[in-house]
Amino acid sequence: MPSFHAPRGTRDLLPDASSGLNRLEGIARSLAGRYGYREMDIPIFEQTAVFERGIGEATDVVEKELFRLASRTEDSEAWALRPEATAGVVRAYVQHGMQTWPQPVKLTVLGPMFRYDRPQAGRYRQFWQWDAEAIGDPGPAVDAEIVELGYRFYVESGVPDVQVLLNSIGDGACRPAYLEQLTAYFGRHEAELPELERRRLDANPLRLLDSKDPAMAALVAAAPRIGDCLCEACAAHFAAVRTHLDALGVPYRLEPTLVRGLDYYTRTAFEYYRHGAEGQQQALGGGGRYDGLVELLGGRPTPGIGFALGLDRVMLALEKSGAAAAVEAPPLAVVVGADPTDTVSRLRVASLLRAEGLFVRAELAQRKLGRQLESASRDHAHFAVIIGDELNGGHVQLKDLEAGTQHLVALDDLARDLARAAKSHHHG
Ligand code: AMP
Repeated sequence: MPSFHAPRGTRDLLPDASSGLNRLEGIARSLAGRYGYREMDIPIFEQTAVFERGIGEATDVVEKELFRLASRTEDSEAWALRPEATAGVVRAYVQHGMQTWPQPVKLTVLGPMFRYDRPQAGRYRQFWQWDAEAIGDPGPAVDAEIVELGYRFYVESGVPDVQVLLNSIGDGACRPAYLEQLTAYFGRHEAELPELERRRLDANPLRLLDSKDPAMAALVAAAPRIGDCLCEACAAHFAAVRTHLDALGVPYRLEPTLVRGLDYYTRTAFEYYRHGAEGQQQALGGGGRYDGLVELLGGRPTPGIGFALGLDRVMLALEKSGAAAAVEAPPLAVVVGADPTDTVSRLRVASLLRAEGLFVRAELAQRKLGRQLESASRDHAHFAVIIGDELNGGHVQLKDLEAGTQHLVALDDLARDLARAAKSHHHG
């Protein structure tokens, strides 16, 4: 017999986990609504070039982790599963002429992302993100607004002690001089660099600051800092972001080596961590300003900023902190019948009640009434709707399993009576 299992690095979200994810998505949607971010959807795959240009070829995400799809015919385009949402959202912004909409355009996407990463705890090949993007506002106030939006998500989700790490990575005016310094610095230490980092040194030295290789930690700590090289405009922007965050009471820590190491990422960069878990490659989420990205994907130069929050890691953090798991709600009523074989009537009555929005189970096992009622009690249902001969006259027995009382109810009144009882007993 073959034994099948979910692909490596993926997880089945069983009902408890799935309702945990739904709860987080509900909080994200509610927050997005309150902050004026409108939900949209993009395909889960795109032309590979969207990611190569939009994220950058010299990045882990594209170089090592892109989930490329096999071409179906020789001349077909190259596709890949989305490793994140920003590139696709910006592609859509350009494609649909959102530059003509009132700016900024605030968008949000929820859904699975895919990276062909080495699976480990908190690192999967399919994982869920909440993504938010504000395109068309140069900041700095919107930078603080979006950092606070992400922070609030953790507060409302119940993840304790989340801290924002914050940095500015400069722009086209000040970064080139900094990159020269950085290249010279790593050049002096070339012999100590791991193979991959040595190759990246020419393509983009900023990536080295972002390296996941533990061998790089000491070198990175002693490297020149972008914060010391910011031009006046970038320094003023960064100071204003901090003033806004202070006013909002968002706890952040300046982290001079934090980069989103790509040329078109500019200025504000941030990540969210559980306090005490900083730097363990286990960011809960992250984001940054990307004033060059719209242009790179074929649009007019347009500033933008966004974040991606990993929902799997929030679920893990909640498990660790012992936050209450989702509890399965019992049905309000179970429909049972005196005639074990008459599943038609039981289903029909259940269907009527379900159409009125009630959570009702029909007992479909063809067994004696007593056994059917036992199963209703085991379900912790509040009521049993008992179908007997009275059905011919349009009536059923309604048994309150909690109070132990029973009375005859007209079928026409049943949904109303149950709904009223549900309301007064706070049933879902
Ligand atoms: P990034 O765009 O790499 O900064 O990712 C943003 C967030 O998505 C991270 O902070 C993680 O919470 C989450 N994330 C990224 N990659 C994975 C993965 N392979 N498995 C689970 N979560 C991930």
